[in-house]
Amino acid sequence: MAIYPKRDDLRELSGYHSPQVSVKVRLNTNESPIAPPTDFVEAVSAAVHEVQWNRYPDRTATALRQDIAALHGVSADNVFVANGSNEVLQSLLLAYSGAGRKVVTFEPTYQLHSHIARIAGATVVSGQRNADFTLDAAEVRRVCAEHEPSVTFLCSPNNPTGLAESPDVLRAAIESTPGIVLVDEAYAQFSPHSALELVREDARVAVSRTYSKTWSMAAARLGYLVAPTWMIADLEIVALPYRLDALKQAAGRAALRYVKQMEAAVREVVTQRERLVAAMAKLPLTVWPSDANFILFRPAGAGRALWQALLDQSVLVRDCSSWQGLTDCLRVTVGTAEENDAFLAALQSALPFVLQSALQARD
Ligand SMILES: *Cc1c(COP(=O)(O)O)cnc(C)c1O
Repeated sequence: MAIYPKRDDLRELSGYHSPQVSVKVRLNTNESPIAPPTDFVEAVSAAVHEVQWNRYPDRTATALRQDIAALHGVSADNVFVANGSNEVLQSLLLAYSGAGRKVVTFEPTYQLHSHIARIAGATVVSGQRNADFTLDAAEVRRVCAEHEPSVTFLCSPNNPTGLAESPDVLRAAIESTPGIVLVDEAYAQFSPHSALELVREDARVAVSRTYSKTWSMAAARLGYLVAPTWMIADLEIVALPYRLDALKQAAGRAALRYVKQMEAAVREVVTQRERLVAAMAKLPLTVWPSDANFILFRPAGAGRALWQALLDQSVLVRDCSSWQGLTDCLRVTVGTAEENDAFLAALQSALPFVLQSALQARD
């Protein structure tokens, strides 16, 4: 029993939930199924010996920020780094939202956008996607003009629905809000376009990226923001000093030496994704197209039951069936060829039974 109450505005909130159960085939958190190159692991092992363990790390993470800046053709002053892009988003919300300010999201989208905004004390306003989960520029203009949010979130490609936002939608957000437009590009390397070219000193656009997905580095917790220099300076006010340890800074730099391998892994995942989509389209499911490394699908009336039936066969996917606007939806991360085979086999064997039970329950 709690003997001291938390903040009133946290009462309705619960923590982030994504079950980590022990299974043979783990396809629930959109990591890369491919380990980083062995040379990378060796470079990180060598870096362990270089770390001055008794000293604080480089507080400004200058070398890492320079390497990231070079990758995107910007200056190190345009780059903010933190422990995962979630911490990047938290810093952005601490700097620009908070009590008395509004944050806009377009649902369904990445749950942590609204969650972190609420923890930062902001009021969250949700615009809505169409029934097919596309987003209309007109809806973006309507919500931004009506609420004048200090931060507007776009997620491109959008997790968990899969498609990249159209350039029209990005333009609508930029033109109709007085505040910051944050484009979460956790899956950008899979996507046809990026908002990076919209980042300018005289614009309010910022793009977040992560090492967790395409860089095969989810274990390290590293993400960054590309933004105008004034925004980076604002974020440094709210962020904790020395937040990135020396080893992580070294690992982040080492990873960037293997761009070709990362791009090859992305191509392999895209090939597997297309194979999965084609196979799933033949089954009695609704399957949404994807520009990312995951696929959203819906077994009518049987989302939760199918999730459990897959788990019973040691295949873990993400259960989105209780999320707003995603009744009966599940999300599968694209895995290796073997993992995808196992998923498809489990899906094919479970689907007739769960759909049959759903029909009987309805009658
Ligand atoms: C996975 C994911 C992230 C990554 O968060 P990290 O903290 O960098 O691991 C960010 N945004 C979206 C939309 C994601 O799906």
